[in-house]
Amino acid sequence: MHKIADKLMQVTARLQQASQQAGRGRDAVRLLAVSKTRPADDIRAAYACGQRDFGENYLQEALDKQAQLADLALSWHFIGPIQSNKTRPIAQAFDWVHSVDRLKIAQRLSDQRPEDLPPLNICLQVNIDGEATKSGAAPADLPALAQAVNQLPRLKLRGLMAIPTPSDDPTQQRQAFGRLAQLMTDTNQRQGLQMDTLSMGMSGDLEAAIAEGATWVRVGTDIFGARQ
Ligand SMILES: *Cc1c(COP(=O)(O)O)cnc(C)c1O
Repeated sequence: MHKIADKLMQVTARLQQASQQAGRGRDAVRLLAVSKTRPADDIRAAYACGQRDFGENYLQEALDKQAQLADLALSWHFIGPIQSNKTRPIAQAFDWVHSVDRLKIAQRLSDQRPEDLPPLNICLQVNIDGEATKSGAAPADLPALAQAVNQLPRLKLRGLMAIPTPSDDPTQQRQAFGRLAQLMTDTNQRQGLQMDTLSMGMSGDLEAAIAEGATWVRVGTDIFGARQ
């Protein structure tokens, strides 16, 4: 328990220091605690320290934990690959989806978002390094995808998400994040959109992401420890 409190404090300190160095405002960057593979009690421990936003990759695992944590006021973010036959429970049970990379998925999420909930916040995942094996829309396809998603009534298009090729080199890290930030700026201008969210940066590269404009950093390992 205390371990999570300590680690959360360390990550928050890193986040604040990086924000300050980048000349970003105090609340410009928010922490998404990635709790995939972690038991509900770990989420409770982080909640007790004030953490409210949690990211999950696997639908069934997330739904099980949501049931166990129904007494807490949490914000749930889906950040994993999405199969089209799983969109309904995602539309029902999450506040944000960071991993939308094709229009068909967005259309289903919009159609299936319950009327009594606010529009679902959406980030479009971009394959920013053009890796063959990775999910995410190609940068060239992004403007049309963003324009189409922006029209869907039950979604709120918020911004872009990427998982760059891992690198230990801060310069290389920053280049990939900088490309994603530029892509959002360009797409906003060309398409007349108002995306305001960059979901980028994890345990190993959150400083570089914040330097390039991240608004959500998604951190798992450095809060909860190494995954089994
Ligand atoms: C697992 C995961 C993270 C967290 O990664 P860490 O290196 O453990 O901080 C962030 N984003 C996505 C999409 C993930 O799947």
